[in-house]
Amino acid sequence: MKIVVCVKQVPSTNEVRLDPETNTIIRDGKQSVINPFDTYALEEAIRIKEKIQGEVIALSMGIPAAEKILRDAVSVGADSGMLLSDRSFAGADTLATAYTLSLGVKKISEVDLILCGKMAVDGDTAQIGPELAENLKIPHITNVSEIIEINDSEIICRTITETGKRLVKTKTPVLLTVLKDINMPRLPSIDGVINSLDAPVAVENAESLGANKSYIGLSGSPTQVVKTYIPERKNESIEIKGDSETKSEKINSVIKEVI
Ligand SMILES: Cc1cc2nc3c(=O)[nH]c(=O)nc-3n(C[C@H](O)[C@H](O)[C@H](O)COP(=O)(O)OP(=O)(O)OC[C@H]3O[C@@H](n4cnc5c(N)ncnc54)[C@H](O)[C@@H]3O)c2cc1C
Repeated sequence: MKIVVCVKQVPSTNEVRLDPETNTIIRDGKQSVINPFDTYALEEAIRIKEKIQGEVIALSMGIPAAEKILRDAVSVGADSGMLLSDRSFAGADTLATAYTLSLGVKKISEVDLILCGKMAVDGDTAQIGPELAENLKIPHITNVSEIIEINDSEIICRTITETGKRLVKTKTPVLLTVLKDINMPRLPSIDGVINSLDAPVAVENAESLGANKSYIGLSGSPTQVVKTYIPERKNESIEIKGDSETKSEKINSVIKEVI
């Protein structure tokens, strides 16, 4: 089974910096890690490989420094990585990102299973998985908490919905977005880290992917970010004195003032 795991490089810090001119996140590769949700997708792929055999390819669209997270993926058990990196991909919204990732999956070819995290902790939209599946014209299952059965042609999963749990059966190829409940990601072994240094990581650009220029990067992104800002934090405290009735009246009026 050929499994692609989509891994995104995200800042390892809460101090996300924004470019005041383009309103996009400044990604300089410093202090970057694999999006935490993607480590569960990666672990699940490795477990499937160990159970029914196969190949795991970690795929990322990002700046050249994102090669590091692909090597990190190899250090825990992925076989190889593919980085989609080109200046013309910059400024991509989710639609353009999903299109670009779909070209990567097509380049890898004959993929049976694509695993994504539930969402990225910086972008937070949870749109890429379903959009990528649509681009590839394959089914997708979101919020997967358990893979119950899997073989080369079929998969049965448990998913969590707003109202409960659901069992879903579908044919491969299929894309899943996975929840944290699915497993406990392993740590890299020393051998894994050594292997990752020489592991094959293919780097593809817009030309090698045959990308349609009108679907990539900022110009291919229908979303326009008008303004981004960090909300001002106010740490004010007031002491309310008096009997219970007076206190509750005062608390009420303070709350009304705030909302
Ligand atoms: C107008 C606009 C401009 C933007 N400009 C930039 C920019 O210049 N640079 C920039 O980096 N971001 C930019 N972004 C943000 C970028 O569009 C999103 O980060 C990206 O589309 C992924 O969306 P998300 O973070 O919400 O991921 P989600 O949809 O929440 O992610 C779900 C899952 O999809 C997979 N995934 C998501 N992104 C990637 C990826 N890149 N590679 C591999 N797998 C992935 C992971 O498995 C992840 O767990 C911009 C967004 C907008 C709206």
